[in-house]
Amino acid sequence: MMEYSERLRKLPAYLFLKIEQKKKELLNKGMDIIDFGVGDPDLPTPENIISVMRKAVEKPINHCYPLGTGMPAFKQAIAQWYQKRFFVSLDPEKEVLVLIGSKEGLAHLPLAFLNGEDIALIPEPAYPVYQTATILSGGIPFFLPLKAENDFLPDLESIPRKVAERAKILFLNYPNNPTAAVASGEFLERVIKFAKKYELIVAYDNPYSEVYYEGKKPLSFLQIEGAKEVGIEFGSLSKTYNMTGWRIGWAVGNSEILEGLAKVKGNVDSGTFLAIQEAGVEALNGPQESTAEMRMIYKERRDLLFSGLTEAGWQMNKPSATFYLWAKPPFACTSEKTASVLLEKSGILATPGSGFGPSGEGYLRFSLTLSKERIKEAVGRLKKIK
Ligand SMILES: *Cc1c(COP(=O)(O)O)cnc(C)c1O
Repeated sequence: MMEYSERLRKLPAYLFLKIEQKKKELLNKGMDIIDFGVGDPDLPTPENIISVMRKAVEKPINHCYPLGTGMPAFKQAIAQWYQKRFFVSLDPEKEVLVLIGSKEGLAHLPLAFLNGEDIALIPEPAYPVYQTATILSGGIPFFLPLKAENDFLPDLESIPRKVAERAKILFLNYPNNPTAAVASGEFLERVIKFAKKYELIVAYDNPYSEVYYEGKKPLSFLQIEGAKEVGIEFGSLSKTYNMTGWRIGWAVGNSEILEGLAKVKGNVDSGTFLAIQEAGVEALNGPQESTAEMRMIYKERRDLLFSGLTEAGWQMNKPSATFYLWAKPPFACTSEKTASVLLEKSGILATPGSGFGPSGEGYLRFSLTLSKERIKEAVGRLKKIK
């Protein structure tokens, strides 16, 4: 028998296994399942980006190893986009690093900065990569609960001083997956103060910055004074341009932190396919109507599902960003049990919140990545559940 490494055996069990198995069983029985589980856009990549990609693929110059920290034209496009969108100035040479999706960078960051006894401060519920990357690098996760009473922001004051002193990285993600919470400038100012006090690296994961409603544009961490001294921000084309499968993203900010991450990457991968980076230039510099349209589509879906769930007695905040609803059912029950009953009784699949961390217990996450018609059908079914 093959024996896995200790670090692999330390990874938490995959908590969505049960619900996925149940889904398969019911599908096999012929049940019509409305799947709110996937956090992957159903809309296509905009045509202008695909068109640039078609031509870029044909250029032999794009067939070589990409190498380095990214294609200069794409790094420049990222810097210009930051200027235009956030009024943040970046040096495209030193303060921009191209990634194979932001997940890749998040996963490699701890390898550059954590030693055996070092702690990473990790919110929960959360995107699982912060935790698994910390464990794979040999570091120790310390969890920061995100609770409704704190607007799903971590309570930095509650972190024991001894823990903060041993911590090297603080992961944050706003607009947040799975809670859909956003961070205020005032909170981010406190984060920077805290990071300076304990000499922490802030790894700010911001893939939903362009998925917002009612014109409430989310902040970049780098907009806050002092941010570049302590942190980097991860960004991605995945959610903004429906490009999850293309694998392209970036890290921007503190040049020393980026250098460490680039060093790890230089020994693991050889960069992002140049044709995809060329398409990335088109995504950021080209027409942005498709992103505006995407926001309208998600907004319609959000309003439909929000009122449907509310009428059925569920409790939740109406999200001002992300394509998730983080909702509590009208009966007291564990997330897993609720998800399982919902699936069996009405063929509706929502992700049990406890799978994202213990503070997610009691909640379910609904993704808005399916059509209005399917959401209407789901709302009809929801109202029939007793
Ligand atoms: C989708 C998502 C990502 C991953 O984005 P990629 O650029 O596709 O790797 C990172 N963080 C969070 C919180 C996400 O939801």
